[in-house]
Amino acid sequence: TIGRIFDLTVQKFPNKEAIYDVRKNQRLSYSEWNVQVNKLANALMKEGVTKGDRVSTFLFNTEELATAFLACTKIGAVFNPINFRLTAEEVAFILHDAAPKVVLFEKALEPTVTSIKDRFTRALFWQIDGEYPEYAASYHEKVSGASSELAELPVDENDLYAIMYTSGTTGRPKGVLHSHREIVEQSLIVIGATKLDSSDAGLVTAPMFHCAELHCAFLPRLHVGASNVILHQFDPKKVLSLIEEEKITKFFAAPTMWNMLLQEDLQQFDISSLKTGLYGAAPMAPSLVHACHERLGLTLVQAYGMTEMGPAITFLGEQDQLRKAGSAGQACLNHEIRIVRPNENGPSDPNDVMPPGETGEILVKGPCMMSGYFQREEATEKALYKGWYHSGDIGYLDEEGYLWVKDRVDDMIISGGENIYPREVEDVLHAHKGVLDAAVVGQPDDRWGETVTAFVVKKDHAVTEEDLDGWCKSSDQIANYKRPRKYIFCEALPRNASGKIQKFVLRKQLEDLFITNRG
Ligand code: AMP
Ligand code: MG
Repeated sequence: TIGRIFDLTVQKFPNKEAIYDVRKNQRLSYSEWNVQVNKLANALMKEGVTKGDRVSTFLFNTEELATAFLACTKIGAVFNPINFRLTAEEVAFILHDAAPKVVLFEKALEPTVTSIKDRFTRALFWQIDGEYPEYAASYHEKVSGASSELAELPVDENDLYAIMYTSGTTGRPKGVLHSHREIVEQSLIVIGATKLDSSDAGLVTAPMFHCAELHCAFLPRLHVGASNVILHQFDPKKVLSLIEEEKITKFFAAPTMWNMLLQEDLQQFDISSLKTGLYGAAPMAPSLVHACHERLGLTLVQAYGMTEMGPAITFLGEQDQLRKAGSAGQACLNHEIRIVRPNENGPSDPNDVMPPGETGEILVKGPCMMSGYFQREEATEKALYKGWYHSGDIGYLDEEGYLWVKDRVDDMIISGGENIYPREVEDVLHAHKGVLDAAVVGQPDDRWGETVTAFVVKKDHAVTEEDLDGWCKSSDQIANYKRPRKYIFCEALPRNASGKIQKFVLRKQLEDLFITNRG
């Protein structure tokens, strides 16, 4: 189990620094941290939390989130980290679905909690940094009074470890269930792919409630006894100065974060300790990968995957980063990927395999595959039809077996009967020096079915629609019919916490614009 492996790390590296919580200015060695973990585990059990019960966290990146994660794994409670960006109603949906016994939250998120907590009379709400009398006897009282000795409990590797709600770009979020074994497998794969060992110093800056940070960066470092600097929230200047001060060797960041790092005055920082930068969770334009190589002197490693798969299912290693820029890489150890003919009327057939180079739905099979969606039998059956996870992403495998992810099935634009993958167009726009960020969606059109509309965030104010249209016309990357027919300049693109552009928000904006113009 995850908890048992942590105990072994503690035995091996008792005096090594495990975590440094920057906001609290608190450093804990593995053995000191283990005392905290055991205390919280005992405090939870004292409140009646037993194996299988859910414990939720509604926290930014903090020592307490990391401690709750491990405490749950030791007592067999199901860990449920909730996205701190969600609205009160979205959080209420998850609390209703997951029905946790205890919810840990922090002061900064208190208004959200206050507005819904009366609906959840069976849950205990513990504020980790509480000054509010209402939540007194809060976290610290409970935890400081608890014992630091924890008997080994009968938790099995096949027991559930976590329930994580997917970002849900469409419809209601679903609770993805993972067992200990599934995520231990994921961690081992990441250790190999990112060449981690106890000499590494990691920086946690992407949200820990998301599996990309938690399973592809943080947990693997705990398995090898590496150290971890925990930053409350992403802040590009702070990230760069921490890399210098703490001699960070590895960290994960979503593409949008890498983009923000590149906007800083990099000369001011000594980031020579960095060995590996990991990116994933959303597509990254090849021009951005190149810019990281040139300006940060860093060849990145990409992970592609989804919560349901642990998440990583492919890696694009350093050696391939520039040669295969734009590809998601090769299947992870012990993973099998298939491209199959998409089926409009139900789950696609895993045996209807497409030849190399041809585009279809990406299916995958491997040891980290989810146990299922919580209380969603039908959705689970569809997603895991015939033993393959149906990703809803489209892409192809090239002759060398490298995966190229084109887009989400739902985001594909069909114009004049031709398929257009927004990502191809976005990559071209990103390569323009005046563009900071870009997203492409389809706009309903009487004549063409849909036409391409681009939302663009300018880097330099001089850039015009004509410049960008000329740029796309002269690009050998996209055919003429893929060119945006309309540009909308904006301040920022709507993104969720893992850095994915919320296309449904953009489509709604377009719809509203269209109605206003007509009406
Ligand atoms: P999530 O709901 O956060 O698990 O998101 C999973 C989805 O994110 C995948 O199905 C992809 O559409 C997208 N995604 C994740 N990693 C990558 C990547 N490296 N490149 C492109 N898209 C990605
Ligand atoms: Mg998803």
